[in-house]
Amino acid sequence: MSEQWIFLDGEFVTKENAKVSVFDHGFLYGDGIFEGIRIYNGNIFKCKEHLDRLYDSAKSIDLVIPMEYDELLEAMAETIRRNDMRNGYIRLIVSRGPGNLGLDPRRCPKPTVLIIVEQLAIYSEEAYRNGLKAVSVAQRRNIPDALNPKIKSLNYLNNILVKIQSNFAGADEAIMMNAQGYVTEGSGDNIFIVKNGVVTTPPCYLGALEGITRQAIIELCAKLDIPLKEEPFSMHDVYIADEVFFTGTAAEVIAAREIDGRTIGQGQAGPITLKLLEEFRKIVDQDGYKVWEA
Ligand code: PMP
Repeated sequence: MSEQWIFLDGEFVTKENAKVSVFDHGFLYGDGIFEGIRIYNGNIFKCKEHLDRLYDSAKSIDLVIPMEYDELLEAMAETIRRNDMRNGYIRLIVSRGPGNLGLDPRRCPKPTVLIIVEQLAIYSEEAYRNGLKAVSVAQRRNIPDALNPKIKSLNYLNNILVKIQSNFAGADEAIMMNAQGYVTEGSGDNIFIVKNGVVTTPPCYLGALEGITRQAIIELCAKLDIPLKEEPFSMHDVYIADEVFFTGTAAEVIAAREIDGRTIGQGQAGPITLKLLEEFRKIVDQDGYKVWEA
């Protein structure tokens, strides 16, 4: 990429000029929402699902996105074109906008909208074969009654704290439980376990983001006749699983080889994980919105 162009409040600016006010409540309070999206061979994968989730998150925090759906889609497509991007990552952010030092959102008349597209630092193919090391952490996932994890808000401290824990443990990913001890998700991915050929993922009401990759995997399981359940489970079920994998826009479908010192299955990505990854990669440049014809 030569010059990186960023969409900021209706204009395209260079990276050096992409500046947001220190009074923006996104900065002061984490007051805002965002999406992480991927473009594969010119196709914005699951574009509608991501934009729908963005508008839903905004509604939930009573934030009116100052752009219509089609306008936002066009801004995203234009940011991709300006950056000559065929494969990469799109970060779409809407914050409450500049206000005063008080937290009242009524003092923020103009939300900030920005779109950044960038190359993605992804896991190596080796990591997809060998799997990650993960740990469960003491911190609980935000409880839905306090800050619902279904809202993809700019407030990621809960996730960052568990990432810090997993860093201290020398692991690649953290597994978060809810206040009752049920597994919810990773720091930035949803989680699945496989036992005796049956795939299980926790229901999102336990405290997880309704991941778009998660949903794509649920649909792929149906297509491939792999039995799937959405059911609560504990760390015990994770330890004794034949396979455990994480899903997310950046991570795609990636196995865990070791969790809390226990070897998972054969200590590498298992057959169902690899099959789902293979099938997932077949749809990523098909299902979505084509900015460029491949
Ligand atoms: N959970 C959390 C906390 C996340 O931040 C993400 C996105 N990075 C996911 C799950 C996965 O969601 P998606 O598949 O929509 O990227």
